[in-house]
Amino acid sequence: MCPRVNRRLRPFHSLKLASLPAAVGLLASLAFFSATAQVEEESYAVKRGDTIYSIAREFGVPPAELAARNGLSGSFHIYAGQRLIIPAGSTVQAPVSRARAAAHVSLPYSIKRAIALAPVRPGRWQYIVVHHSGVDTGTVKGMDHYHRDVRHMENGLAYDFVIGNGSGMGDGEIAVGRRWTLQLDGGHLASEAQNKIALGICLVGNFDEHPPTRKEMESLRALVVVLMARCNLTPRAVKTHQQINIVHTRCPGTKFPIKTFLDSLPDPHR
Ligand SMILES: [Zn+2]
Repeated sequence: MCPRVNRRLRPFHSLKLASLPAAVGLLASLAFFSATAQVEEESYAVKRGDTIYSIAREFGVPPAELAARNGLSGSFHIYAGQRLIIPAGSTVQAPVSRARAAAHVSLPYSIKRAIALAPVRPGRWQYIVVHHSGVDTGTVKGMDHYHRDVRHMENGLAYDFVIGNGSGMGDGEIAVGRRWTLQLDGGHLASEAQNKIALGICLVGNFDEHPPTRKEMESLRALVVVLMARCNLTPRAVKTHQQINIVHTRCPGTKFPIKTFLDSLPDPHR
């Protein structure tokens, strides 16, 4: 759901209908409501676990704009109880590009909850690594079985999250693995040292053959944005398996759009 629709508008019932012409005027203004409504600035009390990124996403404003409006610089540090001013904006409905539309995809509540509830140690995760499964059908159960019983990994599924492509799992469906829930080391990189500091996300598909589905990329972006906020990371922490592995790999394939994807992520230094 587009976060902008969550913004609180001045309630219409607070307006007094003094006369018929006023009521007609109100009805006329209602007709244009969706196209022209302006949103007033509002105040927000920072809660524990909030970051500039998570608040900016919730209210649909750029993180840099939110930080600038509140005189924050450098690390964007905020604290629980602090009051922030959410910059005023307009809810004007304009045609949005595919990238903007993807930017507004938000995670299902169950996934947000699983991300929020995991006992993340500050500074624990330094990378978010993207993989493909290499095959065009996949389920969490199948991957877990493969990693546990064939690859003999005692913690099973090597990744923290899996995103489906419509074959085996839903298109764009996100599954949360127990490595995330229990904050276990990963099993997705060749280096055990890297597995201790790198989260793994696997998209189902063979991206040497074709690109990921649009819904996979939308879910990936929404997931990575929330994980960056949860783990206090910037887009520089987001890598492909190929970019970070100490042993050469093609993963996640030549048709994975890494540059477009990284450019779509919010970056306080851009
Ligand atoms: Zn990989």
